[in-house]
Amino acid sequence: MLLTAVMRMWLTRSFKPFRFKGEYESRLSFEGLDDLGLYVHIPFCRSLCSFCPYCKVIYAPEIAARYKMALLSEIDMVGKQLRRKKRVGSLYFGGGTPALMIDDLEDIIDRLKQYFIITGGIGVELHPVDVTWGNLGKLKAAGVTMVSLGIQSFNRDCLSKLGRVGEGHAGKLRILGEAGFDAVDVDLIFAIPGQTEEMLIEDVSTAFSLGATQVSTYPFIDFTFADNDYRPLPEKDKKRMLQALVAHCRREGKDRTSVWTFAEPQTQKYSSVTRDNFLGFGVSAATLLRSVFKINTFSIEGYVERIDSQQLPTSLTLNFTRRQRAAYFLFWNAYSMAISPERFEAVVGVPLSEMFGFEFWVLEKMGMVYKENDHYCLTDDAAYLYHNIEQIYTTAYIDKMWNVSRNIAFPEEIVLR
Ligand code: SF4
Repeated sequence: MLLTAVMRMWLTRSFKPFRFKGEYESRLSFEGLDDLGLYVHIPFCRSLCSFCPYCKVIYAPEIAARYKMALLSEIDMVGKQLRRKKRVGSLYFGGGTPALMIDDLEDIIDRLKQYFIITGGIGVELHPVDVTWGNLGKLKAAGVTMVSLGIQSFNRDCLSKLGRVGEGHAGKLRILGEAGFDAVDVDLIFAIPGQTEEMLIEDVSTAFSLGATQVSTYPFIDFTFADNDYRPLPEKDKKRMLQALVAHCRREGKDRTSVWTFAEPQTQKYSSVTRDNFLGFGVSAATLLRSVFKINTFSIEGYVERIDSQQLPTSLTLNFTRRQRAAYFLFWNAYSMAISPERFEAVVGVPLSEMFGFEFWVLEKMGMVYKENDHYCLTDDAAYLYHNIEQIYTTAYIDKMWNVSRNIAFPEEIVLR
């Protein structure tokens, strides 16, 4: 908590906390932004896994039908603000389990295409249960080019400690690998009690050998509102596991594409969080623009009611100061292991050297960053530091924000210090 506060104050040069207010604008300023992505949240699951912090409820067809209509209306409300079709880099569907609305995805994509030209592909998160040739055919027909499979672990004991059961995951991945998508990502969790470095590396090797083009690993984080029977392994074990993972992937010739992500070289990356700006649709979806960060309500009822009254379903808005926007940019660019001064200036409006020249000079001297192709790249030491900061940030900020949002559809204010 203290570390996030000190970092925030240092980066923003201010004692001001991040203050999210229960207010919203009906018009969004995104027409002129050049690096924009789209995200759609589908909040339905067959059952709820104990470790999972995301916004989701048990699937019910009648609620999903109402949700779809509201989602299409939200897309209209935002899309109609454009004077002409806008190019966007990508569209990602996350959840929840998007495939529970598989027969609706094409309608949602078509509605988005009325307003946006999607240039860089469409990605969908999949649960292993949903990997069937029939479903994959529907995804392809809808224009989906990238998939992410939530395996978490191939090891049955590890899975059960996450409150999950599952058989035949390897077979499901093999099918995905053969289906010809541009990117096949596999999500894996590390630092599960009982998991060893060897087990983690076995999971990663299995994923790549069965056709994954990318493996996204996440440390097990025990959210305060999760229903976990087990606690994550201690930080020293997490560090050891991450180091072993990095060494293994390097030996195997994989690219480290973010602090926790590894990919086959020259393959398309699956990443929904590393856009400079994005528009989010659906419950709990976040929108990041030049000077504003906003989050939709987590309540499906609240979402549908707001949309029915022809208003955007925003529950919380943070109006960035320029330095807060700069801090946000640096945080997520650092996650991708390379910070682009050119993009910084495009997003923040001032050169990186002007705002943080001294800091980057010090980081270079300390061996935390190095210059390559006009980018500042993170060294392994810096990546490990980031791994720590990201977990602290998750506990101090995301946990608090999501915990309040799960309980109050439209909070008056959330202050993150
Ligand atoms: S891990 Fe996936 S399937 Fe499990 S509750 Fe979360 S979103 Fe649903």
